[in-house]
Amino acid sequence: MSEDVVEHRKLIIAGTGIAGLSAGIYAARANNEPLLIEGDEPGGQLTLTTDVENYPGFPDGISGPDLINRMKQQARKFGADVKNGIIESVDADDRPFEVELTNGDVYTADAVIAASGASARTLGIPGEDELMGYGLSTCATCDGAFFRDEDMLVIGGGDAAMEEANFLTKFADTVYVAHRREEFRAEDIWVDRTMEKVDEGEIELLLNTEVTELHGSPEEGITSVTLVQHPDGHPTEKLDDPTTADEVDEFEFEVGAVFYAIGHTPNTGYLEGTGAEFDDEGYLLTEGGRGGGQTKTGVPGLFGAGDVVDFHYQQAVTAAGMGVEAALDADEYLTELERVRKADATPTASSDD
Ligand SMILES: Cc1cc2nc3c(=O)[nH]c(=O)nc-3n(C[C@H](O)[C@H](O)[C@H](O)COP(=O)(O)OP(=O)(O)OC[C@H]3O[C@@H](n4cnc5c(N)ncnc54)[C@H](O)[C@@H]3O)c2cc1C
Repeated sequence: MSEDVVEHRKLIIAGTGIAGLSAGIYAARANNEPLLIEGDEPGGQLTLTTDVENYPGFPDGISGPDLINRMKQQARKFGADVKNGIIESVDADDRPFEVELTNGDVYTADAVIAASGASARTLGIPGEDELMGYGLSTCATCDGAFFRDEDMLVIGGGDAAMEEANFLTKFADTVYVAHRREEFRAEDIWVDRTMEKVDEGEIELLLNTEVTELHGSPEEGITSVTLVQHPDGHPTEKLDDPTTADEVDEFEFEVGAVFYAIGHTPNTGYLEGTGAEFDDEGYLLTEGGRGGGQTKTGVPGLFGAGDVVDFHYQQAVTAAGMGVEAALDADEYLTELERVRKADATPTASSDD
């Protein structure tokens, strides 16, 4: 056991996104005195969005940060503590768990809920930071409806890109899909559906094409992008190579919204070494299925909830639901732990009594 333990808690929750906060509300009401560690994105992905229109209970919509602040307030009201810090590692060799932060602080906990989300991959191109949430989005299901009748550009060539492009045809004037190669990585069924929409004139493909800059402002949103094309694909690589740079076609292209669909990276680095299992993309594996215990991982006392587990739905309300499930599963685990501890502490009657 580390000598620098700051505090012991019944339950530590990694993350203050909507999954972590929902877990926090339920865990606090169940007297499990949770400590929530914020991570490097306090409030999680919803803090990146200005309007959430599909969270039940808010018919006029609510801003992401406002929703998160209300949930944080609600969790604190019932006794949850929220702390700044990033979890570096979780030691699950013995119990309690040892949870070490990047600043060296160590907390112990009887149970841990991993609600550390997934980060949408970005390109790191000029205009990205300024326009994220103002015409640039990483979630078509969430933000597509804000850009009705505009031309929209989807970046990517996998299943997510095809699915998002098809979804966006409900709102867009034309959906363009920019993919850096000639061939799509997506499953055939998604490519077929996309090609049907291409035939119907709703989707246009920009193959061997990459985006290198986003133009616009938070006030007017995205107005255009710079695209590069090369007939052999991977145009930015060709642009960086002096022998092929002049073969690359570079031009400005007008669109009203851009959607990145180049994948998510689940935030699980701190769980390596716990014995928890992950799928091929790095998402935390939980029991799933029906009945109680769906959020259990293979490590007793470690539970998973929200986008760190869910590679498919990735919505606020589904993440909140899983957070609640994790809090209920953790409560069951903690109650059983307490029962066993009490039984162990009770002296057994001797045969002479
Ligand atoms: C731009 C955008 C708009 C969206 N709009 C909508 C919408 O309108 N409606 C909708 O339903 N969904 C929307 N979504 C999706 C929704 O935001 C996610 O599904 C949801 O936030 C997932 O919640 P989560 O709590 O699982 O993870 P996240 O929100 O990703 O939160 C993860 C938390 O874990 C923390 N963390 C990570 N690593 C560590 C660590 N090592 N130690 C401690 N903490 C850590 C982070 O700091 C963060 O606090 C949107 C997403 C984006 C990106």
